[in-house]
Amino acid sequence: MYKYKQSGNTYILSLDNHVEVTAALAAFCEEKGILSGEINGLGAVSEATFRYLNPQTMKYVDKTFTEQMEITSLVGNISRKDGKPYLHIHITASRSDYSCIGGHLLTAKINGACELFVKDLGVEVGRHLDEGLGINLFSL
Ligand code: FE
Repeated sequence: MYKYKQSGNTYILSLDNHVEVTAALAAFCEEKGILSGEINGLGAVSEATFRYLNPQTMKYVDKTFTEQMEITSLVGNISRKDGKPYLHIHITASRSDYSCIGGHLLTAKINGACELFVKDLGVEVGRHLDEGLGINLFSL
């Protein structure tokens, strides 16, 4: 699913071709017992599902794009919720016409490579549902 090397508190990751990015990252966080961290990376995907939260309706709108795209920027954080890794990832991806789309990342299937840096921050950070906002905020 991935190969990695550690340097201090940071992991250098290369995800295998055709794997799903968020599943691979969650598996890596489980394997390494990462309780909080930061993620950044790039790569290429053939399919990705983005999420947009409409603050007026408080409804999530998900949309899948099935086309080859470059991940021009993937940024995210790692925390814990219900005893499992909780990944909050945003992504910008470029299309064949060089325009970009992006949003909250739900899933992305690699087609090519995906190179990530994961920094283990070494403290436990949980999440709780903020009823007013309808989103899971950091428990600090
Ligand atoms: Fe988000």
